[in-house]
Amino acid sequence: MSLVGDYDGNNIFAKILRGEAPCVKIFENDEVIAFMDIFPQSQGHCLVVPKNTQARNLTDFAPERLGALFAATQKLTKAIISALNPDGVIVTQFNGAPAGQTIFHLHVHIIPRYENLPLQRHHEGKPADIDTLREQAKRIAGALEN
Ligand code: 5GP
Repeated sequence: MSLVGDYDGNNIFAKILRGEAPCVKIFENDEVIAFMDIFPQSQGHCLVVPKNTQARNLTDFAPERLGALFAATQKLTKAIISALNPDGVIVTQFNGAPAGQTIFHLHVHIIPRYENLPLQRHHEGKPADIDTLREQAKRIAGALEN
């Protein structure tokens, strides 16, 4: 069952965290890494992924670390608003395959919304151009408060 089970250390986010797979990184600290989603649902869609955990979803993450995860999520959301000027922002995460989860290492989505621009469907977005992701990541990183 995807909602409950053992952590698979070969998931793609674990590989990114170990430096075994690439990502377009925006920032990292001791608690999290944030990078661009490779199949963005909108321009600037990014992910906040906690380090040093085997939490598959929200339910098995250490509660004392939630503050750091959501502080980073807030910081990144504010930077995205400043850098990309969206009209709204979705902050969400999925628990279990029937809920939409495909990668079983806890992560938070930050998905900017732009009026009159449709959202790509989850899992059905087109792979992004890497240079475009790099340019967006640079703009977002530049807007991060210290
Ligand atoms: P979930 O469906 O588990 O909530 O979200 C997983 C997200 O990871 C999806 O939005 C998907 O586009 C993204 N994703 C899948 N594979 C990769 C990858 O190799 N690199 C990056 N940066 N994102 C990925």
